[in-house]
Amino acid sequence: MLEELRVFWTVNDENTFIAHILMVQYALIDCNNFYVSCERLFAPKLCGKPVVVLSNNDGCVISRSNEAKKLGVPMTAPEFKWRAFFKQHNVQVLSSNYELYGDMSNRVYRALQSFSPTIEKYSIDESFLLLPRHIKGKTLKEELHQHIGIPVSVGVGSTKTLAKAANYLAKNRKGYSGVCYMPTGAVQDEILYTMPVKKLWGIGRKWARKLSDHGIKNVRDLKYTSDSWAKKHLNVVGLRIIHELQGTPCLNLEEVVQKRKHSICTQSFGRTVVDLAEMKEAVSTFASTASERIRRQNLTASLLHIFISTNRHSKGPKINLSYDTAFSEPTSSGTVITKSALKCLELIFQKGYKYSKAGVILSGLENNHASQIDLFSHRDKKKDEALMAAFDQINTHYGRGSVKIGSEGIQKPWVMKREFKSPNYTTRFNALKEVH
Ligand SMILES: [Mg+2]
Repeated sequence: MLEELRVFWTVNDENTFIAHILMVQYALIDCNNFYVSCERLFAPKLCGKPVVVLSNNDGCVISRSNEAKKLGVPMTAPEFKWRAFFKQHNVQVLSSNYELYGDMSNRVYRALQSFSPTIEKYSIDESFLLLPRHIKGKTLKEELHQHIGIPVSVGVGSTKTLAKAANYLAKNRKGYSGVCYMPTGAVQDEILYTMPVKKLWGIGRKWARKLSDHGIKNVRDLKYTSDSWAKKHLNVVGLRIIHELQGTPCLNLEEVVQKRKHSICTQSFGRTVVDLAEMKEAVSTFASTASERIRRQNLTASLLHIFISTNRHSKGPKINLSYDTAFSEPTSSGTVITKSALKCLELIFQKGYKYSKAGVILSGLENNHASQIDLFSHRDKKKDEALMAAFDQINTHYGRGSVKIGSEGIQKPWVMKREFKSPNYTTRFNALKEVH
């Protein structure tokens, strides 16, 4: 297998840099049925049973246990259509608990960092890493299972695309037990021949159809497509995929975490909102949450965008309203941001509509210390910062929402439906699991 040589630097006790030259391969680690696996960790009674996790507002299925897959429950199955089936087959239904999944995802990421310094978090349940040759995929899988408790599939190859294809095989073919090293030469071609082209990373439905029309049905066919054909019928992305299949790495690991460009907080309501008072609560909550997020990253925002809208698919009059405003000086203050958001809301709100969604977007983000100061501001910035620091400290210590801005309201009848949500086992003290 073609392997890359990489130099890694570490620092020893005497502050001397040490270079490690290692042979590396690309590995893709994908958590199996991630949301279900997280739930099972804290509710072992779910093990061995068919389990599904639902999307926001308990809309449709977004994660399934193997048992549920075997019963024939498809991805995105709408809950209301499958309710009777779930009952009949004793399928355990859960609302999504993103606080738990996010925390477990970070734990997996941190554990992976101990295997390789070069890592790209690709999604909540997938990471690419440059795996040093001496670390076996099997070891990785076993360690993650032992220390975090999450089952994963490991695919290894000489490029990201081949690692992703290997991961697909590890997961979907018998005989790999969750770890697949992409072979080389004729053996690789044999395997790629059995893999439909639409299952390859980066090939969407449109391209799959186009390729199929030209007689390219499996991944091996695509691998041996000529550059000139690819340039004519696909584009540079398609060409890169083909080169990667041929073993030439064209996609780097995006290690550098991209700086946030926006902080978005938006939600579909559990039921429609018709009056301004209730909408004010929702918008206050979103503004406060968005500001909390930028404070956590030590950023400030200079622009605010708010929107409210009715459901596109429901009957009755539809409307989509939004408003943009700029702060006189960049801020991360929850009170300032919430006040501005409410002012904007009052300007755009129209009676007579059944609103189903609202959101607040903060943009123009920059580092807190780099922000320009408004000479004419009367606001006591220091006092405000101290207040927000105390606000965040209390919420970190006692759980989110322990203190909030008054206009957020208490009852929150518009809040999204999550009837079957598990507790936040790992992020809230009062949700800690009890052991008897
Ligand atoms: Mg997964």
